[in-house]
Amino acid sequence: MKSREKIIINGIVQGVGFRPFVYSTAKKHQLSGYVCNDSDGVVIEVEGRMYDINNFHTEVINFAPPVSKIHQYSNRKIKLKHDAEFEIKESHHSERLSTFISPDLTVCNECLAEMFDPNNRRYLYPLINCTNCGPRYTIINKIPYDRIYTSMNRFTMCRDCLNEYRDPTNRRFHAQPNCCPKCGPKVFYHNGKEVIDRINPIQTVIEQLHQGNIVAVKGIGGFHLACDAYNESAIQKLRLRKGRAEKPFALMVPDLKTARKFCVVSKPEEVLLLAASRPIVLLRKRANCPLPESIAPDNNFLGIMIAYSPLHHLLLKDNFEILVMTSANLAEEPIVKDNDEAIKRLHAIADIILLHDRDILQRSDDSIIRKDFYSTQILRRSRGYVPLSVNLQGKIHPGILAVGGEQKNTVALSRQNSVFLSQYIGDLDNPESMEFFKESISHLSQILKVKPEIIACDLHPEYLSTKYALGQGLPVVQVQHHHAHMVSVMAENNYTDTAIGLVLDGTGYGTDGTIWGGEILVGNAYSFERFAYLKPVPLPGGSKAILEPWRMALSYLYNYFDESMIERMFSHNQIQNEQRKTVIQMINKNINAPLSSSCGRLFDAVASLLHIKHQVNYDAQAAIALESVAMYGKKQKVELLDDISGEIDISNLLKTVVERILNNYPVADIALYFHQQLAEYFIAAVQAARNDLNLNTVALSGGVFQNKLFSEYIYKRLSEENFNLLVHTKVPVNDGGLSLGQVLIANEQTVKKEVRAVCV
Ligand code: ZN
Ligand code: ZN
Ligand code: FE
Repeated sequence: MKSREKIIINGIVQGVGFRPFVYSTAKKHQLSGYVCNDSDGVVIEVEGRMYDINNFHTEVINFAPPVSKIHQYSNRKIKLKHDAEFEIKESHHSERLSTFISPDLTVCNECLAEMFDPNNRRYLYPLINCTNCGPRYTIINKIPYDRIYTSMNRFTMCRDCLNEYRDPTNRRFHAQPNCCPKCGPKVFYHNGKEVIDRINPIQTVIEQLHQGNIVAVKGIGGFHLACDAYNESAIQKLRLRKGRAEKPFALMVPDLKTARKFCVVSKPEEVLLLAASRPIVLLRKRANCPLPESIAPDNNFLGIMIAYSPLHHLLLKDNFEILVMTSANLAEEPIVKDNDEAIKRLHAIADIILLHDRDILQRSDDSIIRKDFYSTQILRRSRGYVPLSVNLQGKIHPGILAVGGEQKNTVALSRQNSVFLSQYIGDLDNPESMEFFKESISHLSQILKVKPEIIACDLHPEYLSTKYALGQGLPVVQVQHHHAHMVSVMAENNYTDTAIGLVLDGTGYGTDGTIWGGEILVGNAYSFERFAYLKPVPLPGGSKAILEPWRMALSYLYNYFDESMIERMFSHNQIQNEQRKTVIQMINKNINAPLSSSCGRLFDAVASLLHIKHQVNYDAQAAIALESVAMYGKKQKVELLDDISGEIDISNLLKTVVERILNNYPVADIALYFHQQLAEYFIAAVQAARNDLNLNTVALSGGVFQNKLFSEYIYKRLSEENFNLLVHTKVPVNDGGLSLGQVLIANEQTVKKEVRAVCV
């Protein structure tokens, strides 16, 4: 006897070869019916013997294409229709949308093999792709994922391509961006004056790179600026032209084996390097690494990714072991993605621009990831991860838009039981970034078909994201910065009870109008209390103190010691007496010297005291340099401390640090001691919270946890003390993760509050 079932599958099931897989599975089990993409997901109807239908279910669930992800699978019996065949139908467009778009995928091995096969019709074709690989999110305007809604819309498939597209046994069956050299986008270059469309533009670019020139290369989510990573003068030229003095450059290698030449790669790091998302992985530099120090000065790590677009492979294979591949942008502006924009804006930096005419619709930077012994941290979540959602166990009100912070901004929007974070937007302090910020909000709203109803933002009145939120005419929930950090890590771990939050951060606006950042909070998504915090010191010059760590060193000395100590510690002449006096006056007269409990600034202060960095030119530079030095320190004896609540006074720590500096202890040893002893203060405060409030779960968040040495020490110690740790693995520990916490807090404080009121 025959039966018929309707199956709806939800998740990442579009653009990942799902329908062809369903088709061949149905054929194998002699079932008739159809499969189609729908805004609800993939819809299947199968008709045949019950035995075959059951086998079909098992196979679809267990052997789905490797890059797909099934979130929901439902089936029900329906009436027989007696169709003769199984077919793939055109997409339906219904109003309810619950499909998830796939992130962009690295080129697959089969496509690579074809590209390097002289007998293949796509030999050396830089835009080769198939259902298992290629761009997705970055070429989509709306869903469902069909060619007409992608930037491939304007290319018409040739006969050969169309045959592949229609052949259910072909790897390119219904591959939306399918194309070939005959019918698809082309690669060409711009030499600074005009577009040149030669037979082999890539060869020209390779020659330019060999000559030490800078090349802008169109990638998947935007342009890169590339140069030969062995060539010191090319690197200097790039730094000068880009206005980027010391911030590390990302690197690209052709394969894993080459990555090992420069860095130590552990097994889990190998998995990250080879993942379909192809992030930049921060890897420990080898002692004998042959690359110039100027790629990442004062840093023990290099950010390396393996080539992910076919174009990258053509550039690198047999030509370069390693290239600098940094995002093509000016200062902190968003990455350049359009051809005309690249020609207009990048010609001052790049000697030559390698372009193609497949448009990038969604800008997306390379993601950055780091492995420590306890977790995998996504430091920048963008290409390869967006638009994956963070799925919650409970329901959440749809249409809560969170606009994040000011730096490393991301926005987020809720739908059903998921929160969707945008790609990395960056620092909002320039008009281009603000534009990108607004675009990201409307794009997210469009692909999710959810209109913002409530907006969550930071408490800081001067953040541009806060100002935007307050100007939308919607209900606004302002969220304390570190509360958002804490709830962000709780949310991704689906933890909803009250917890201890250890939030160690740069700076964030506190509920008392001072600047917070070294916080032990206690609370949940509804509310929190400040249990303990680093004893505040003035931040002389406000944001200037961030760029000039010596100001923080002075502030700490002035607060914890007498003036003679300042004389002794500042006898190095790096900072003029006049400057010092001005800063002391600012502190005394309380002029532009807000109080701050920032943990990040304390790292800055110590980096300056140790003469590691007095001035910086990018975020967290001093702390990174301090960590890099500390990694060479000898194991230090630290003091375990009694419970601490309220103000955390670190006089003993500072006294020891200063004493050891004056007694010429090795800098690395002092730096290591500082990391570990400081951690003990926070551990003592977390212990106190446990003892006072009978809580055992600690939520760890905030930018300071990007410091591997420091965070690994804290993980280890808290684990030894049998705490239950909540750490970030899905969204960034830095301000890039704020928007997730903001959504959850707004949900509790508005929607659930109403429910509570009704219940009472
Ligand atoms: Zn492929
Ligand atoms: Zn073609
Ligand atoms: Fe923060």
